[in-house]
This record gives sequence, structure tokens and C-alpha cells, in this order.
Amino acid sequence: MTQLTRREMFQLASSIAPAFWLVRGASAQTPPTLELQPLSDKLTLLTGDGGNIAILEGADGLLLIDSGLPANAEAMDKKARSVGPFAIRVLINTHYHFDHVGGNERLGREGVKIMAHANVLKRLSTPQKNPFLNREFAALAPEGRPTATFSTGDEIAHGSEKIAYEHVPPAHTDGDATVHFRNANVFHAGDLLFNGTFPFIDYSVGGSIEGMIAAADRIIETVDGKTKIIPGHGPIAVREDVRAYRAVLSTVNERVTALIKSGKTLEQTQAAEPTKEWDEKWGKGFQKSSDFVRMLYAGKTSGRG
Ligand SMILES: [Zn+2]
Repeated sequence: MTQLTRREMFQLASSIAPAFWLVRGASAQTPPTLELQPLSDKLTLLTGDGGNIAILEGADGLLLIDSGLPANAEAMDKKARSVGPFAIRVLINTHYHFDHVGGNERLGREGVKIMAHANVLKRLSTPQKNPFLNREFAALAPEGRPTATFSTGDEIAHGSEKIAYEHVPPAHTDGDATVHFRNANVFHAGDLLFNGTFPFIDYSVGGSIEGMIAAADRIIETVDGKTKIIPGHGPIAVREDVRAYRAVLSTVNERVTALIKSGKTLEQTQAAEPTKEWDEKWGKGFQKSSDFVRMLYAGKTSGRG
């Protein structure tokens, strides 16, 4: 395990497969293509910066969900503040992965209040080893770490919006939180939902496909048929997309579990193509089908990714 500098971490992110944090426009050589997409009169989606970022306008300033990639922190900050004459006041992190907390240090230095599940603070305070990626990720500087942590969830007001945030049991990581903008009926799922690709699951910190399935169930019961659902990666989804995603995860989980129980090796499990029906649609993105199966196999056979 080597300790990576930010530049090395970013170069790693540019080269490694599966590069789950790379969506578009994010390489060290190419300037980021950050784009804004209105979701309601007060809510805007910022894409092109690793994990999807939501921006809520309030009378007193902006509230952000997630802060993108480290290399784009300055560009993200400027782009977010371009929605109106506002300062950024509050940031909620959906989990600790660096494609969702990359702007934390910058925003923390500006005095932004950073909220997250208690395990996000824990993960961001010490180097994190990821056996699946065979890498170690550095801790954030203290000013980038959450200052307001929670263990379950709550509802807060920001301007005219009511925001319900909720921790779910370990799924993508051990510190996942969802955020429901109740008036606008927009829901940020973080990386509990990948739209258009197989999900990355961080087994190194207690994530599991069973947890992902349970989290999908929780999302399905929390939203309604009109909710705009922001996935961690990919385009806006609706409840039916989450139902379809849940069904795929469940079927693949059953198949991989059965193959492992029958004594199949990783190579035999991959050769059995447990994701076959969805490879065309989901296996061409930043997480290949064979990598997804390898991740599940490693997670299920060792308990750690
Ligand atoms: Zn993630």
C-alpha cells in the first residue's frame, strides 16, 4: 500500500479500471466540463465533476449535496455560485469517496458547514486502504472533514425547502446518506444508485450487494412516481428505474451466490456470465461486467473487497 498524493490519486483515477468515479471530462489533461441542469425553481444539478452534485438556493445562501473531484474544486465552487448571488453555506456529503468530497477542503476553508454520517468523518480522518483497488487514499485536511455528523437522519429547513436526510445500513459504504428535497420532490441517492452502469460497492468498509438491494428498497418506498432521483453517477432517474436496478442486483446476487456455493472459481463464475442480459446496457461504462463480478466474488468470499 502506498500513500498517494492528490495528483497521484487523480492520475490513478484517470487510469484505473474500474474508474467508477470518472464520469466525463475528468482527466488531468482535459479541463472539466461542468454543466448545470435546472431541476426545479430552486434546485440545480451540477454534472461532469465525478459524483452528481445538487445545488439548492435559499434566502441565506446555497446548500450543496456532494463536492465532486479534488482536481475540480475551484471550478466546481465557481460553477455552483454561478446559479445566483449566493455564498455556499452548507454541504452534505452522501459518503466518503473522493469523487464526492473533492471540494470539501476548499469549502471548509470558506466556512461552509459540512454535514455527513459519523462514519464519513471517521473515513476522512485517516488513510483508507481499498484492497479491491489495491490502493490507499489519504485523509482530508481537518478543514475538509464534516463538522456536523449524524447517525440516523433528520429534517432541516433551507429557505423554503424541507430537506430530509437519512442514513441507511451499510450498502455502498458504511456511511451512506440519502437526501430528499421534499417540496421540490427531488431525491439524491448518492452512490446507492448508479444509473446506466453496474454499481461500485465498497466491500472494504462494509458495503455489500445485499445492502445495496435493501437501500434500493428503501429508496423505492421513500419516493413517489414523480420524484426526480439523482443517482451518484449517470442521468436523472425515476422510481421505475430504481425498481429495474433492484431487480438486476437481486438476480445477479442470486446467481453469483449460487456459483460460489457450488465451488466455482472466480474465472468460472465470470465465464458463467451472471450479468449477461444487462451487459450490453450496463457493462460498457466505467465498470465492466467482469469487474463487477470480480468485485462481488471477492467481497462474498473474503468479506472484504
Ligand atoms: Zn462512491
